[in-house]
Amino acid sequence: MKKITFLICTVIFMGMGLNLVYADSAQDIYKIKNRGVLVAGVKTDMEKFGYKDPKTDNIDGFEIDIARAIAKKIFGDANKLELIPVTTQSREYLLYSGKLDIIAATFTITTQREQFYNFSPPYYTDGLALMVRKDSNIKSLKTLNGKSIGTVYGTTSRAVLREVAEQSSMKFKFFSFGAYSEIKSALASSAVDCFVADKSILSQYIDDSMMILDDTLSAENYGIASLKGDTQLGEVVNEVINELKSSGELSKLAKKWNLE
Ligand code: GLU
Repeated sequence: MKKITFLICTVIFMGMGLNLVYADSAQDIYKIKNRGVLVAGVKTDMEKFGYKDPKTDNIDGFEIDIARAIAKKIFGDANKLELIPVTTQSREYLLYSGKLDIIAATFTITTQREQFYNFSPPYYTDGLALMVRKDSNIKSLKTLNGKSIGTVYGTTSRAVLREVAEQSSMKFKFFSFGAYSEIKSALASSAVDCFVADKSILSQYIDDSMMILDDTLSAENYGIASLKGDTQLGEVVNEVINELKSSGELSKLAKKWNLE
């Protein structure tokens, strides 16, 4: 009798264990549903992509519309979305520490990042470019040898430039900054010779004394990222991006934000 009771208990416990394992792997989407909102890390200083209007305090943009489409898919309501402002430097930490469900913030899909995150198919392709002072003698990538280059922590820029340097036997002096506005000041005051970033970023910092060179150094494919363990969420996000693409809605949104 004792043996039978022990056996039954073991089976029940094993069942509970299996349930827990199952619950764990499906937990990501339930966690979001139970909370009642999708939490998205977005830019607030990137016009057209994610921008906070100082007059209204509203955050709007192409990536906000995409995040709204994901919230709509999960809840049937695009407004069940909480927007958390992120920077280039903070976005990965915030996702990793569980403060965000997704990053929708000009985040390039790279093989290195794919080790840690699920990435949606690309929803926008930008290119890494170079901004210099008009009065400098740098007129193209070829004349950049030996020059000092400002990049921001947490971007793809430096890795791309390193490859360019290797392929073309050039040497660059890198300087890292905490924010793009700091590189702009450094370029203006000649503390660096070149500001390297995605074209969409450079276009926000350009003024009459500066120019963006014609060379495009890389294709920066922006994707929505979620944590690798959040498998279901990753699948839902992929579905949304694929649906937006196949229905033509993604190009409509890009047009709405003058991104085509
Ligand atoms: N797309 C680049 C990256 O993911 C830069 C974008 C940014 O700084 O937000 O590293």
